[in-house]
Amino acid sequence: MRALAYGADGSFAVVDRPDPEPGPGMVVVAVERCGICGSDLHLKASRLLPAGAVIGHEFAGTIAATGDGVAGRRVGDRVAVLPMARCGTCDPCRRGTDQLCLDQARTALGLGFNDGAFAEYVATDASACFSMPDTMTVEQGALVEPYAVGLHAVRRSRAGAGSTVGIIGAGPIGLMTLAALRREGVDHVVVAERSDRRAEVAARLGAEVVLGDANRLSTAFGPLDVVFECAGTAATPQVALNEVRSGGEVVLVGVAGPMDPISLLGIPWVVKEVDFHPCFAYTTEEFGEAVDAVAAGALDAASLASDVRPLDAADAAFTELVQPDGPVKVLLAPGG
Ligand SMILES: [Zn+2]
Ligand SMILES: [Zn+2]
Repeated sequence: MRALAYGADGSFAVVDRPDPEPGPGMVVVAVERCGICGSDLHLKASRLLPAGAVIGHEFAGTIAATGDGVAGRRVGDRVAVLPMARCGTCDPCRRGTDQLCLDQARTALGLGFNDGAFAEYVATDASACFSMPDTMTVEQGALVEPYAVGLHAVRRSRAGAGSTVGIIGAGPIGLMTLAALRREGVDHVVVAERSDRRAEVAARLGAEVVLGDANRLSTAFGPLDVVFECAGTAATPQVALNEVRSGGEVVLVGVAGPMDPISLLGIPWVVKEVDFHPCFAYTTEEFGEAVDAVAAGALDAASLASDVRPLDAADAAFTELVQPDGPVKVLLAPGG
């Protein structure tokens, strides 16, 4: 098969690889669309990936082979795939917080441990496959994973109908958070985004107010009930704290340097009693809800999934995506 492999020089190239075989309890999925995620851009830039690694974790496709002991899944099933299968038995899984499953480092696809979906085929645990309704396009299928991230961020907060909410940064995750908020009935959302292209998409996805400067978020509806920090810069957690009301919440969806401290001014934080919620991925249940929500039109796929490119155009897409006015989202079509 053709796969996009990370090279020792830090770029990606299409290489020939043996087709994966499904182990017991596993299936092989023929990948039809796989989105390029912000974390993929970070992985590339970090130089932490081993040479030869195949990444890609936002994908949908068709089951091409099943391993021993797989029940309820057949060749030909159209599926969106949760890219880190959960064990169901560890402590976080038993507590209903399986986004924190201790087994995920072993099962995660496309993060450097196991090969991911920037390839014609990928092997995955059968339990991680979610059926796509017939009406769901493969582009929508590839947006389920990032939508689930936005949905989980919303669920980490107490935001609901009537809340005033701010979002810092309208990259893909900020936009997914916006879409999930709108679907949960939150009408008053102000988005701060500097890129005109992204600001336009935020307006189309239902932001009531879009402005360029995050320091002005609270000019829209007053100090906000919840601020979602989706820009992932060192300065933005403090900006979120400044713009949220006393007793409000900040949800940290973006993270700056993975090993850098998050800095907040202590007194403003304490006297405002602001709850900070970090968030990681999504529960398996939320992923299932995301399938239904995206199938029901929660995302404007025309805005978010219209840029589909072949595998050999991937390295150039990675370069474009880090430009300030680059494309909002690019999906790869590994099957050509
Ligand atoms: Zn992602
Ligand atoms: Zn677990």
